[in-house]
Amino acid sequence: YLRRGALAAARSPRLLSSTRLAPSYNTTYSAGMKIVAVLYKGGSAATEEPRLLGTIENQLGIRSWLEEQGHEFIVTDDKEGPDSVFQKNIADAEVLITTPFHPAYVTKDIIDKAKNLKICITAGVGSDHVDLNAAVERKIQVLEVSGSNVVSVAEHVIMSILLLVRNFVPAHEMIERGDWQVSEVARNAFDLEGKVVGTIGAGRIGYRVLQRLVPFNTKELIYYDYAALPEDAAKAVGARRVEDLKDFVSQCDVVTVNCPLHEGTRGLVNAELLKSFKKGAWLVNTARGAICDKDAVAAALKSGQLSGYAGDVWNVQPAPVDHVWRTMKNPLGGGNGMVPHYSGTTLDAQARYAAGTKSILENYLKSQEQEPQNIIIGLEGYATKAYGQRK
Ligand code: NAD
Repeated sequence: YLRRGALAAARSPRLLSSTRLAPSYNTTYSAGMKIVAVLYKGGSAATEEPRLLGTIENQLGIRSWLEEQGHEFIVTDDKEGPDSVFQKNIADAEVLITTPFHPAYVTKDIIDKAKNLKICITAGVGSDHVDLNAAVERKIQVLEVSGSNVVSVAEHVIMSILLLVRNFVPAHEMIERGDWQVSEVARNAFDLEGKVVGTIGAGRIGYRVLQRLVPFNTKELIYYDYAALPEDAAKAVGARRVEDLKDFVSQCDVVTVNCPLHEGTRGLVNAELLKSFKKGAWLVNTARGAICDKDAVAAALKSGQLSGYAGDVWNVQPAPVDHVWRTMKNPLGGGNGMVPHYSGTTLDAQARYAAGTKSILENYLKSQEQEPQNIIIGLEGYATKAYGQRK
């Protein structure tokens, strides 16, 4: 399956350090440039665990490498409002490094302010926190470390499906409380075997989810994606494509969302679509919070239209303390598998996306061609078909 090449490339420093020259991606850069990185705060965990590379403390492991080359490297987690370190420094930064886990929202206003900005690098996968259309207009390149955490997320999806279907969270909470009432948790626990599981988006993550579901002997695996899987790839996992979204969700016992957030997917799973879900279906979303309507999901869970909702992505991050997804429950008091955004930032994933970020930077600094699968926005506009169907 062709897309596997992306993962191999993301994992292989040799492949990532391409030395081929491509005039279209040559960029003249000023020596002593300002590079801003907005990362999440690691606190004592980051000082105790140096493999937490994606934190403001450990700085992707690139500070001395950049400073030896004479560049200024500003690293912060302070990202909101005009007086934040991010917004103050973006005015004359040439390179911006962000992470989906603590997203610096690069709106059109920020892009207008960032007169010197030439390249945005996402340390991870998913660049929806950048206004991609505004980046196209300004010819700002947007790159991400494609493939770097797709296995990490696919594993989290499988875990989340199982914890919802088997009613795991309330069972564990019961044990911590000191209770023991098997019927209370068994009344809403099922087997995954024999169920229909469908993925919205069958790209790197969606396909890996399908692959990992094969041994569970589901009734059927189906997918919804405007890009059809290559025939042999679909056959290898026994997945059937359904072209109409309502028709697709009406067939699923479990729906997992694995597509990027863009104009065509914002609010895709809304009150109207949720009516077409099978009553009592389970929904897992590790793609982006805003693909699912926050209040519609909470209402569907409360009414029992959904039996469970799990994921790690939120419409705003960090999620406010009173965000309804933190505490929403189904009528039996379970069905919530929400966690902070960490499925794609396991220590294994951090090693890969830190290496990939360095490699993208190195290519930029040496005016070398970037690995094609990492380019979301190139100098000529969208370089990927994954962020929506456009001409
Ligand atoms: P990918 O580009 O390999 O695959 C995305 C797939 O979604 C493509 O096949 C594309 O055609 C499809 N798609 C796009 N719009 C669609 C639509 N409207 N309906 C149906 N399918 C559509 O990307 P990937 O590596 O599989 O990652 C997918 C997304 O997962 C990322 O964009 C990111 O938002 C999210 N992600 C989350 C985490 C995390 O930590 N939670 C980590 C990595 C990625």
